[in-house]
Amino acid sequence: MALIVQKYGGTSVGDVERIENVAKKVITARDAGDDVIVVVSAMSGETNRLIGLAAQISEHPDPREMDVLVSTGEQVTIALLSMALNKRGYPARSYTGTQVHIRTDSAFTKARIMDIDEAKVRADLDAGRVVVVAGFQGVDEVGNITTLGRGGSDTTAVALAAALKADECQIYTDVDGVYTTDPRVVPSARRLERITFEEMLEMASLGSKVLQIRSVEFAGKYNVPLRVLSSFKDGPGTLISYEEQTMEQPVISGIAFNRDEAKLTIQGVPDQPGVAFNILGPVSAANIEVDMIIQNVGADGTTDFTFTVHRNDYPKALKILEQVSRELGAREVNGDTSIVKISLVGVGMRSHAGVASKMFEALSKEGINIRMISTSEIKISVVVDEKYLELGVRALHSAFDLEQKATE
Ligand code: ADP
Ligand code: ASP
Ligand code: MG
Repeated sequence: MALIVQKYGGTSVGDVERIENVAKKVITARDAGDDVIVVVSAMSGETNRLIGLAAQISEHPDPREMDVLVSTGEQVTIALLSMALNKRGYPARSYTGTQVHIRTDSAFTKARIMDIDEAKVRADLDAGRVVVVAGFQGVDEVGNITTLGRGGSDTTAVALAAALKADECQIYTDVDGVYTTDPRVVPSARRLERITFEEMLEMASLGSKVLQIRSVEFAGKYNVPLRVLSSFKDGPGTLISYEEQTMEQPVISGIAFNRDEAKLTIQGVPDQPGVAFNILGPVSAANIEVDMIIQNVGADGTTDFTFTVHRNDYPKALKILEQVSRELGAREVNGDTSIVKISLVGVGMRSHAGVASKMFEALSKEGINIRMISTSEIKISVVVDEKYLELGVRALHSAFDLEQKATE
C-alpha cells in the first residue's frame, strides 16, 4: 500500500463533470489499495475572475485582502470533490490550508510554506478517508490567510508529499507530461519520459509554466518523486527525478521561453569603477530583480549598460534609471518591452561543446537578431524581439532534433 498525493489543476476541475471525473480517478487509486491525499486548484478562470473583481475596486488592493479573496476559489473545489467522493461511497473530507495548518510566512500573495502539521491528515488517512486539501493557500503565524503565488497548488501538493513522506506526488494537468517545449507553441513537441530536477528547475525558472518553480525546488530538496500526468488520458507521464549515471543524456532536453521580459539601456555612462554598482544598486534597493546584464567596452571613456527585468517592473525600473542617468551624467536612457527570452536547457551541455554556435546558426538562418546572450552550466538564453518568439522556438526545436519521431 502506497501513499499518493494527487494534484488536479484548474482545467482538470473546470466544471462539475470534470470534478466527477477526478473523483473516479481518485477512486481508481483507492481501489488499488493506496491512501490518497488530493490537492485541487480553483476551477479554471476563477482565480483570474477574482483578481479582476479586486481590480475593479482598487488599483492597489491590500495584499492581505487579496489573499482572503483569491483563496476562496480553491474552497469551492475541495467541497465539490469531497461531495462527489462521498456520494460514491468513498469517505472524504475537505480542508482549507488553515484547517490543515499549512503554515507560511506573512508575504501575502507570494508566501512560502514553513511547515505542515501532518497529524490531522494522518488521522483521516488512518480512518480510511480521502483527504482533499485546498491548494495555493496557507496561514501565517497570527492566523492570516496567505497564498503561494500563481500556480501555487503544485507547491502545496509537493509540500504535503514531503511532510507525509508520500511515495509519489502526481501532478495531473491538461498535458500528458513535460514536453521538449510548450506543445501549444510547437505542436510537434515530444513528451519526455523523464527529466532531472535540475533541468526541470531551469525550465520552470526560464518560463515553462507547467510546474511552479517552488514546487520543483521543494521536490528536489526533499527528494519527492514527482510525476506530471494528464487528467484526461492515461499514460506514464513524465517522471522528474535525480540524474542517474547510467541514463543516456541528450545534449538538450528542452526549450523554455519567457514573454514577461523587458530591457533597459543607459547609454554614455562615464566608464569608471563603480558603474555597475551605481546603476544596479538603486534598482535592487527597489526590490526589482535583474536578470541578464551586459556592459559594453567603451571607446570614448563612456560605456553602455543594458539589463533585463520582469515586464511588470519595467515602469518602476525606467523611473529609477532616469534618475540615475541624471546623477551620473549619462547620455540617454531607453527601454524595450517587446522582447522575449528563449533558452535551451540540458545537463548534456556540460560535456558537449558547440551548443551555443549551433543555436546562433539556427537563429541566424531565420534572420533572427540576437539582442543579448547569457549562459550557465546547463542552459543558454538569448533575448530576441517578441515577434520572433514562435519562429525562434520552432527553429531551435528542429535544429536540436527534438521533434517527435515517426514511430512515436
Ligand atoms: P494547471 O492548471 O493544471 O496547473 P498549467 O496551465 O499551470 O496547468 O500548466 C499546464 C500547461 O503548461 C500546458 O497546458 C502547457 O501549455 C504549458 N507548458 C509550458 N511549457 C510546457 C512544457 N515544456 N511541457 C508541457 N507543458 C508546458
Ligand atoms: N488557482 C491558483 C492560480 O490560478 C493556484 C493554482 O492553480 O495552482 O494560480
Ligand atoms: Mg499550474
